[in-house]
Amino acid sequence: MIKTDVLVIGAGPAGLFAVHQLGLIGLKAEVVDNLDKIGGQCIELYPDKPIYDIPAISECTGESLTKNLLEQIKPFKTNFHLNERVQEISKDKKDWKILTSKKKIFISPNIIIAGGVGSFEPRKFPIEEAGKFENNGVYYSIKDKNYFKNKKICIFGGGDSALDWAIELSKFAEVILIHRRNEFRGTENSSKTVKKLEKEGKLKIKTPFQINSIEGQGKINAITIKNEDGKTEKITTDCILGFFGLIMKLGPIADWGLNLDKKHIPVNTENFQTNKNGIFAIGDICTYPGKLKLILSGFHEAALAARACFKNAKPNEKYKFEFSTTSKNMQGRLGINKK
Ligand SMILES: Cc1cc2nc3c(=O)[nH]c(=O)nc-3n(C[C@H](O)[C@H](O)[C@H](O)COP(=O)(O)OP(=O)(O)OC[C@H]3O[C@@H](n4cnc5c(N)ncnc54)[C@H](O)[C@@H]3O)c2cc1C
Repeated sequence: MIKTDVLVIGAGPAGLFAVHQLGLIGLKAEVVDNLDKIGGQCIELYPDKPIYDIPAISECTGESLTKNLLEQIKPFKTNFHLNERVQEISKDKKDWKILTSKKKIFISPNIIIAGGVGSFEPRKFPIEEAGKFENNGVYYSIKDKNYFKNKKICIFGGGDSALDWAIELSKFAEVILIHRRNEFRGTENSSKTVKKLEKEGKLKIKTPFQINSIEGQGKINAITIKNEDGKTEKITTDCILGFFGLIMKLGPIADWGLNLDKKHIPVNTENFQTNKNGIFAIGDICTYPGKLKLILSGFHEAALAARACFKNAKPNEKYKFEFSTTSKNMQGRLGINKK
């Protein structure tokens, strides 16, 4: 059981900046995210896309913004619980009890929901056997590329993730890239690179094919793929990787008894509290008149929600407004002695 001042759901830009604002006023946060990496939409959907509307940064990318947000919260030594979804929330005396998909329990007087458009889940292979082999031969993300060294791998998909991993893994594994169309959706550069690698005999490409079946007992031995004319082909392989994009679902958030308005959580704009005391919502998931789904709005919302958390976390202390330069929490973390 982990006790904390604030449990932040979602490690997108709003959740990350909330950690900063909480740290600044001396509150400890734990962050849970369903994805295997930090950064929310910025990292999952557009790591390389330029962003031009972050105040005082003329241009950055989804990836560099995430890196900078992480750098900014470094002094607060925050714990991230990735690959973990918040499933249930219940009242535990004055606190909230939060249960995750890995059965981890958090106890906290405050919850900040920074869940964006909900939890992202990979789109999966459309055949039943794929479920049997999931994480044991069937994968939808790569946590450690070294695991695939010298293996026979079939990569399915035509977008950037499929192409980028085909290029990367072909350096040390036997890769077959399979896509249901002849044209790839990924960037021109990646498409050209996979075709060049095919010419050089460094990987194989099979199009237009889709998965038809998986064979194996306990582990995968082979798969069959099928084209539009019904022609099938058997391929021996150690594993298959599916990169078909993500499904966005509000997920369990919808079952927590919060008021909802078309998959968004209405909030009081004074403190971004929801209809439940101690539960706040910021970023893309919250709604109020005039809401703009922009990163900068999430930052403002995070600042106000963080201050509202103070009263619940430290009921016997009075919150005192300070600028970041003079905040004792910031100075202490940076090793500066406040006079
Ligand atoms: C293609 C594209 C381009 C964009 N360009 C810009 C731009 O130029 N400028 C701009 O300001 N905005 C832009 N946006 C919008 C911006 O990305 C969003 O406003 C921003 O990401 C919202 O941040 P967030 O932290 O609220 O949510 P998200 O970034 O969506 O992060 C939410 C996180 O919560 C997690 N989560 C959800 N539910 C759970 C749960 N139950 N348990 C655990 N984790 C959970 C998710 O896995 C996710 O990682 C763009 C969006 C897209 C799609």
